[in-house]
Amino acid sequence: MDAGENPLERLAIVKNRVARAQARFGPPPQKVTLVAVSKTFPAPEIRPLLAGGHRVFGENRVQEALGKWPDLKQDYDGIELHLIGPLQTNKAREAVKLFDVIETVDREKLARTLAREMKNTGRQLECFVQVNIGNETQKAGIEAENALEFVKTCRDKYALNVTGLMCIPPLEEAPGPYFARLNTIARQAGVKKLSMGMSADFEVAIEMGATHIRVGSLLFGQRSKPAA
Ligand SMILES: *Cc1c(COP(=O)(O)O)cnc(C)c1O
Repeated sequence: MDAGENPLERLAIVKNRVARAQARFGPPPQKVTLVAVSKTFPAPEIRPLLAGGHRVFGENRVQEALGKWPDLKQDYDGIELHLIGPLQTNKAREAVKLFDVIETVDREKLARTLAREMKNTGRQLECFVQVNIGNETQKAGIEAENALEFVKTCRDKYALNVTGLMCIPPLEEAPGPYFARLNTIARQAGVKKLSMGMSADFEVAIEMGATHIRVGSLLFGQRSKPAA
């Protein structure tokens, strides 16, 4: 298949695949938001997508995002920036000021800190709870069996606006059953948004009900350094 000459062409190709996946698993097809994951890529490689009208992006490191997005947000209206990597509480203030959606809320200390910083800054961000859907010891996220209670804690105790769940399934296994499980937990928790699926598996994720897919390398090319 044609891999696309530039980020905008590749975006069109990915959007086409999204539409076909939606048609296959509809009707009615759920809305799928494509989060363009721009981690490790500098602003000049991101600007073509902004110029082409794309507005939803994901970054996994606060420090790196601070180096490019304040300028980009000045130049383009309507950007929605998602934090998709682990957040340390000592970076929560900067994260709340810069990002629009935090996809990686996964422990009570972070929920408490985010709530405080949102109060301090007057910015009420949408939050997704990250679920460690494969119960992998090395992975971030709340354990699946504790996810329902944690969503409730985030809402009732800290008044966080939890609108979705996010997961990264185990690398070496078929992702479908994990995506399906996240969907089940989301329905039980009463949240509507599901961030799941990356370059390699976003079509399966759409089949399982993803509302947000996080696509990096298919748009920007292979990352030269590993970025967890
Ligand atoms: C890097 C990253 C992605 C994008 O991965 P690709 O395989 O390049 O599409 C998605 N989600 C998270 C959490 C990531 O860290």
